[in-house]
Amino acid sequence: MKLLVTGGAGYVGSVCAAHLIDAGHDVVVLDDLSTGHRDAVPDGAHFVEGDIADIAGDVLAEGFDGVLHFAAKSLVGESVQKPELYWNGNVVKTLRLLDAMVARGIPRLVFSSTAATYGEPEQVPIREDAPTQPTNPYGASKLAIDNAIGSYARAHGLAAVSLRYFNVAGAHGRIGERHVVETHLIPLVLQVAAGQRPQAQIFGDDWPTPDGTCIRDYIHIDDLAVAHLLALTYAQPGEHAIYNLGSGTGFSVREVVEACRTVTGHPIPVEIGPRRAGDPAVLVASSAAATDALGWRAEKTDLNTIVGDAWSFMRLREPV
Ligand code: UDP
Repeated sequence: MKLLVTGGAGYVGSVCAAHLIDAGHDVVVLDDLSTGHRDAVPDGAHFVEGDIADIAGDVLAEGFDGVLHFAAKSLVGESVQKPELYWNGNVVKTLRLLDAMVARGIPRLVFSSTAATYGEPEQVPIREDAPTQPTNPYGASKLAIDNAIGSYARAHGLAAVSLRYFNVAGAHGRIGERHVVETHLIPLVLQVAAGQRPQAQIFGDDWPTPDGTCIRDYIHIDDLAVAHLLALTYAQPGEHAIYNLGSGTGFSVREVVEACRTVTGHPIPVEIGPRRAGDPAVLVASSAAATDALGWRAEKTDLNTIVGDAWSFMRLREPV
């Protein structure tokens, strides 16, 4: 298929683009490089630099079989401080993209959604029919887009799938997580082992969990990418499917730190800090719907494998 990958210079988009190319698809990456990296765009992709709101229509005029839409703002804290970046950057720009897709008759869409659309869960593991009550503008902006996609799919015959990611981690060879402002647990803890920060911070050890630290569902980036390829294949015209993607197992912050110590051989000192605002105690996905509909199952579920791949990527870039 000929596919447009928006945000294909970012972490998830670039790894998915690499998987698409390996599977024989013809890939065009559109990215404004506001947070992505030109050198993350995989070999074999044609790269177009620009803003989706301005040029998606022109790019799509070439004719495409589908769009995988990753380009987005994705920092929870920033979304609270500057919500306009999220409503304009995520919602308004995506509406321009959807309009361009309809105008050009592009039949398929896979959208990068998030567990943050659910907010504080009433039940764990979280299924797709759980209430959606996002606790920050980032999650609210992604939920608004999911809703828009549903109505565009029904009205215009688009075959659409939203994939709601839990905690994406790990790396795909030379492509991995490289944020200018790093907020995610695994890269931050590994930065201690790499000598880039003196200690790791644990945001609260008084949560109602067995070891007192928050529990999250870490999904390997390669497993996540595979789900996108399956979603492209199984998307049905006029329907908008939503699937949660996680490995189905929760690991506590302390367990993640321990895995980082095992993988790196570094003692990784930790400091217990206050709870971070807006953090739910436990977030674990039920991915049963993705398994039933797409035949997808997370394969790289071992925490040491996930952390080990993130560590190999970090050392490739900055040998320790
Ligand atoms: N966390 C932590 N210290 C850090 C960064 C994160 O204790 O320096 C915790 C955070 O409170 C959450 C978990 O690690 O419980 C995962 O956080 P991350 O930001 O990686 O992902 P999120 O779950 O917020 O999407």
